[in-house]
Amino acid sequence: MSRQSHRQGEFPPAPEPLRVPVLDSHTHLDMVLEEARGRAGGAATVADAVAAARAVGVDRLVQVGVDVPSSRWGVRVAHDHPAVVATVAVHPNEAPRLADVDAALAEIDALAADPRVRGVGETGLDTYRTGPDGRKAQEESFRGHIEIAKRHGKALVIHDRDAHADILRVLDEAGAPGAVVMHCFSGDADFAAECARRGFVLSFAGTVSFRSATALRVAAAATPPGQLLVETDAPFLTPMPYRGRPNAPYLIPLTVRALAAATGSAEDALCAAISATGERVFGPW
Ligand SMILES: [Zn+2]
Repeated sequence: MSRQSHRQGEFPPAPEPLRVPVLDSHTHLDMVLEEARGRAGGAATVADAVAAARAVGVDRLVQVGVDVPSSRWGVRVAHDHPAVVATVAVHPNEAPRLADVDAALAEIDALAADPRVRGVGETGLDTYRTGPDGRKAQEESFRGHIEIAKRHGKALVIHDRDAHADILRVLDEAGAPGAVVMHCFSGDADFAAECARRGFVLSFAGTVSFRSATALRVAAAATPPGQLLVETDAPFLTPMPYRGRPNAPYLIPLTVRALAAATGSAEDALCAAISATGERVFGPW
């Protein structure tokens, strides 16, 4: 998530459907709907967004919370829509701004008990948007989320912006939960190998299709096929050739194809592997 990004123009046209269904492992439907208001081509309701995704073979979505209200919203949506499961958290850039982080974490802990909640996140560290004065609160919040994930046996969804070494340090110190997803993986092949060695799952976003992202494609190729996921992080990070326009789960096929090219995989086999990994981490739907 990076709320400051400026997206222009209409939602892109629907890509050619996938033959083997996949999930969108990380999306913000609340923000997608907000983005769609007053803009051509966007979904008006959650049901619309889910149907548009399903029409191109994206039949399962993970709705990701970034604060207490969006986490609550996600849980409700996951109960109303069988295609949607939720994760709950206070975002690492939100935590340092809260007057009472403990109260927010108590709310997240309560929400995490819900059977439609399959993950705790996005949480982690972000030294890009949070300055030195907020780092202590950010790390404490991260550690709190790790405990919640372990307590409830849910996947931990990590936001890592310019903080690779510290993410590993905190996880090693605290002890990682059974399932860890590196959302919008942004490291190189060495970091991918470090994460894979720990059993973490690497989720690739539209950034893997960006022309300058050679290191990211090498990292994807170095990731074991059973530890790979795909996500939109919608409405952000729209894949090529629509970079800069708003994103939504129905655009996953573009990122799947970029990932297939980067890893030298056949599209159908890649989709099958991603689906199996998604079910293992967040499922069954
Ligand atoms: Zn996100």
